[in-house]
Amino acid sequence: MPRHIACLTFDFDALSTWIARGMMSPTSISRGEFGVIGARRILKLLSKYDIKSTWFVPGHTIETYPEASKAIADAGHEIANHGWTHRSPLGMSAEEEETELLRANDSIKRLIGKKPVGYRSPIWDLTPNTVKLLVRHQFLYESNLMANDYTPFRTRTDDKIELLEPAVFGPETPLIEIPVSWSLDDAPHFELVRTPNWVQPGLMQAEAVLSNWLNDFRYLTDTEEWGALTYTCHPYCIGRGHRIRMLEQLIRGLLEMGATFLPMHVLADEFDKRAPFKRA
Ligand SMILES: [Zn+2]
Repeated sequence: MPRHIACLTFDFDALSTWIARGMMSPTSISRGEFGVIGARRILKLLSKYDIKSTWFVPGHTIETYPEASKAIADAGHEIANHGWTHRSPLGMSAEEEETELLRANDSIKRLIGKKPVGYRSPIWDLTPNTVKLLVRHQFLYESNLMANDYTPFRTRTDDKIELLEPAVFGPETPLIEIPVSWSLDDAPHFELVRTPNWVQPGLMQAEAVLSNWLNDFRYLTDTEEWGALTYTCHPYCIGRGHRIRMLEQLIRGLLEMGATFLPMHVLADEFDKRAPFKRA
């Protein structure tokens, strides 16, 4: 019996993503504030289809918007670690990265009474220390890497990647990777961002992106007996009217293809049973 899983994930960055970029004008901050409106619309839509999802919520969002954050957990969705400040960990020392990770865990514990089992880095970037820290603090899974699309895999530590030598891969860890892709993230398609150094044009037509997103799942159902596909959305971005309509069309299209919707911690448990970790 084939089983094709869709994970809808929402990075509830709100103000934190703009602050981390140094964009703190009232207008930039207001773009983050719109995330609260978007989150409300998404929760209503998920409830209509009785879908449970995973929300990566920075500590800054939880402590700025405790009621909007609590509403997510109260509706039965998973809350997972997305840093406290939404700064990329690149350039942080291991100590700074651990402080950020644990501060975010503390915010989540105060909100829902238990610590999260999943982690997604802001901007999906990892340092050579990240996986070690996540293993040390007993995370079940993370969702940042792109080495597969339909099949989770085990993370590694201590890869040796050098310019003039072939790569040497380090040992696998028990930490499960639930992979992502920029093509399945709403922000690069839709969100116009201008900084002094670069422009992300965004503003794509929603139907064009919807077609790509459905076809990735169609290929999964055509080619794999078991697999999972992760969609990443941001309430401040997907929450606009035409994109919320697109999200509903996505849900309907996935249901027509027989999708099972799971929060990531449930998918990680299922993968762990299918492919138990073997220490090298
Ligand atoms: Zn984020």
